[in-house]
Amino acid sequence: MILALDIGGSKISAARIEDGGIVERHQVPMRYNEEAFLEAVREVADFGRPPERVAVAATGFLHDGKVFSVNINTIPFWKGFPLQAVLRRQFACPVVMLNDAQAAAWGEYLPRRDRVNNLLFITLSTGVGGGLICDGQLRTGPHGLAGHIGHASVSIPPLDAPVPPCGCGRPDCLEHVASGTALARQAQALLGKPMDSRELFSRIPQDERAAAIVDNAARAVAQAIANCLMLMDVEEAVIGGSVGLAADMIERIRRELDGLPALFRLPVSRAIAGADAGLLGAADWALRAAG
Ligand SMILES: [Zn+2]
Repeated sequence: MILALDIGGSKISAARIEDGGIVERHQVPMRYNEEAFLEAVREVADFGRPPERVAVAATGFLHDGKVFSVNINTIPFWKGFPLQAVLRRQFACPVVMLNDAQAAAWGEYLPRRDRVNNLLFITLSTGVGGGLICDGQLRTGPHGLAGHIGHASVSIPPLDAPVPPCGCGRPDCLEHVASGTALARQAQALLGKPMDSRELFSRIPQDERAAAIVDNAARAVAQAIANCLMLMDVEEAVIGGSVGLAADMIERIRRELDGLPALFRLPVSRAIAGADAGLLGAADWALRAAG
């Protein structure tokens, strides 16, 4: 069996994968120090028997089997943490790793591959991640950075500007405007009380400030999509993540794209595999790596 792990900024999911499908799935909250993290992995990955292969989708970027948080606020101890070696030791089997959004991009590409060969996947969640399929291949990149569209800059400032720079060190990142964290931060500033992105969306019908924050985020996402279209000539953008799939976020992104000149528009679709895309994409990738 393949054990697939999806390690994100706020949770760790594990699945037992057989014949390309999820047979059983567990989830625990992410832990933010090394010892507690390893304990959580042990707990979440316990399916009663040892895996033959471990497929990992991990937040941050991966280089040489080590993981690094792009945004240092996400997981502070991921500053070159040797995840691959640690998991190999723990499970005594081969470990194949992908960035979580790259894995989800691959998971979303698989059901679409008869139709498109070039695809941009964006996940709007705690942070903003992305993945690129170029000519039918997942682009990971020599530094593991390919698709990190959350840290591409956009000329749409957040509505609570000026704010300190993004955790990656740059001031104008898409993530700083359109992530769940950024939405919550802007909600606190404009609506005057702490709330998560779910509550912000629920307030849209009765509070135009809530709608303005979400529309501004959608505008920033549309701009990032248009930039990617110009750079990579992708055929479709797929939107996933808890914020991306919330309420009418995709319709708002489409509306903003439709406001751009025709050259910059492309189809925007909804993620199909949802929360399982990273697990399924990583597992399929691990099988390919096995040859
Ligand atoms: Zn950034």
